[in-house]
Amino acid sequence: MTASGNADLNAVVYTRLSTIFGTDNFPAKFLINDACVVGRRPYSHAGILRFNGQAITVLPHRSTCYRCLFLEPPPPGSVPSCSQAGVLGPIAGIMGTIQAMEASSTSLAPAVCSQTGYSWWMRST
Ligand SMILES: [Zn+2]
Repeated sequence: MTASGNADLNAVVYTRLSTIFGTDNFPAKFLINDACVVGRRPYSHAGILRFNGQAITVLPHRSTCYRCLFLEPPPPGSVPSCSQAGVLGPIAGIMGTIQAMEASSTSLAPAVCSQTGYSWWMRST
């Protein structure tokens, strides 16, 4: 992403109460994570592959973030994309629903949110 792209991302993140994202682009995941952490904005990230899904809600400076969990992007080509490996469609819907619920709680009721963030894991096989 370019410097102006980073500025655009920061402008979007910093003006929102919460961010939701799900992409199979690993550099983008880290970039969005970093923008949210620096801007102290909560976010929900979800990832899906084949029959599995995971979602985490991060409360910057209060919980573990994506970079704490995964440290750095995997080497290019080491993880199959959704188009290569396939995705069970309803998993995407379930993870999106969880993210909507998490964004609602972090935006509308931040005082009652967990102090440690949330993590959801689903395995359908
Ligand atoms: Zn972190």
